[in-house]
Amino acid sequence: ITFKETGLKPEILKSLDEMGFETPTPIQAETIPYILDSTNDLIALAQTGTGKTAAFGLPVLNKIEINKKEIQSIVLCPTRELCLQITSDLHKFSNNIDITVVPVYGGEPIYRQLGALKKGCHMVVGTPGRVNDLINREKLDLSSVRFLILDEADEMLKMGFKDEMDAILAQTPAMKQTLLFSATMPPDIASLTGRYMNTPHKISV
Ligand code: AMP
Repeated sequence: ITFKETGLKPEILKSLDEMGFETPTPIQAETIPYILDSTNDLIALAQTGTGKTAAFGLPVLNKIEINKKEIQSIVLCPTRELCLQITSDLHKFSNNIDITVVPVYGGEPIYRQLGALKKGCHMVVGTPGRVNDLINREKLDLSSVRFLILDEADEMLKMGFKDEMDAILAQTPAMKQTLLFSATMPPDIASLTGRYMNTPHKISV
């Protein structure tokens, strides 16, 4: 399958071309058409380095309503480094569409992130501690979220973010598509998916 055959829109195909992405990786070949077509939840077992950022980033960007500048999607990930990496990739993927993505993470003064959020955005990428902090300060409203992505879910649980994840997920609407990416599927992930996901489709590569 080619990127064009997955059904991604021309503006996104143009960005992929600019980035030198020619062929979808195996996980992308599975997730992109699935997410574009379906509103079902999805669990993808994938190691880092398999192209998982594009595996969720491309179809979610494709489905965002550009004329509604509200937080339609949030990505939760375990570390500041990953948060910045994902944001940088999403910026490149959306280089030819007017979509705003804001990263929020610990270790940087919160006021800068407050300013970025206040201007409005379509998508937030964040670490659970900072996201939860912003929710508690009523600076982050997740009531418009339609796509929730849990990236490296096993790592987030390993790092002790379970309570924050529970609190954040409770702030998102019941009607949404949840996409969970994890390198491993330990029992605590199974418990999380049981609580928060609705008959998820499973993909492993
Ligand atoms: P990730 O697993 O998302 O961290 O991606 C691993 C690396 O592969 C990153 O440097 C990506 O930019 C690159 N990459 C992801 N998908 C593709 C693709 N379809 N073609 C070429 N490079 C890719």
